[in-house]
Amino acid sequence: MSDKTSYDVIIIGSGPAGITASIYTIRANLSTLIIAGTTPGGQLMITTDVDDYPGFPGGIQGPELMERMRKQAEMLGVKFINENVTKVNFKKKPFKLYIDNNEYESRAVIIATGASARWMGLESEKKLIGKGVSACATCDGMFFKNKDVVVIGGGDTALREALYLSRICKTITVVHRRNELRAQRVLQDKAFNTENIKFIWNSEIIEFIGKEKLESVKINNNKTNKTEEIKCSGAFVAIGHSPNTKFLKEGEHVKITKEFLNNQVKLDEHGYIVVKNIVKTSVEGVFAAGDVHDVRYKQAVTAAGAGCMAALEVSEYLEELKHKKLFN
Ligand code: NAP
Repeated sequence: MSDKTSYDVIIIGSGPAGITASIYTIRANLSTLIIAGTTPGGQLMITTDVDDYPGFPGGIQGPELMERMRKQAEMLGVKFINENVTKVNFKKKPFKLYIDNNEYESRAVIIATGASARWMGLESEKKLIGKGVSACATCDGMFFKNKDVVVIGGGDTALREALYLSRICKTITVVHRRNELRAQRVLQDKAFNTENIKFIWNSEIIEFIGKEKLESVKINNNKTNKTEEIKCSGAFVAIGHSPNTKFLKEGEHVKITKEFLNNQVKLDEHGYIVVKNIVKTSVEGVFAAGDVHDVRYKQAVTAAGAGCMAALEVSEYLEELKHKKLFN
């Protein structure tokens, strides 16, 4: 834990958005703390080849890219705490953020908590998570060496998972609910040309089957309504992401007054932070950057760009406060 508890800016999250923001705020001479999360580094930490981040001909591994970003920020003087923010209070200024009972204060906040993999929500899935059902091929792929696995989804994540697993597993069956993929063309071409990847179209998983560990999945064809069982040792759920904003919602006991609503960061019905002018939230002085508000692009490089924008807005906001003599 850091001894200092009061900062010009606290950044929540340590993926490309959070770290880029910190590089800009520290260089603007603003004391900066990143509350990095208990699994710092964001989604790139569970990604293998990153071929589309500029500056790395031949690509770079996700964890190495994050390690380099963090090192750059630390060398510039950014402080990191590898914990999760459990509660925020944006009603009064300076803002208050809590890690359990430890209180931190800051004049501005950047929320860059990103998004986490979504689950399908089936009871049978819950029972078998960690026993064959996974949402991270790079974390768990090796458990299924030379085995048959399925990947669920039709986006970039699903195909990246399938391609990664094709180098480890015997066969990969991608089960997708439609008959066309959402993933980018280059990934589609790679997957179609990989011998041990096959596709089952118009089909949805209705049950994960297995007692101690996964043995098969039951799928339903939504065109013919036929069900079939596919034997597999592993199933990788890759059906998109949900924003990490739970910590922003207060308990249900809170009385919803006008004042309360004015001081809450507004979320949309899916939990994404609502922004105006790209990075401004509904609370003045609180900014958002990256997948936590980006429902469209969700790339490492766009998250980094948003981090930069949020940091520039923070500098301007704090400068204005200074002119209004609200702070030194
Ligand atoms: P996504 O593009 O939203 O794709 C999710 C896939 O899962 C879709 O094919 C969707 O089907 C399917 N799906 C959703 N809910 C489902 C359910 N309940 N049951 C069965 N299937 C379901 O999510 P993503 O692949 O995670 O990608 C998200 C964003 O991250 C994209 O913008 C992507 O470009 C980006 N990304 C980038 C990289 C990179 O390295 N550049 C890597 C990964 C992801 P439908 O197609 O029918 O909707």
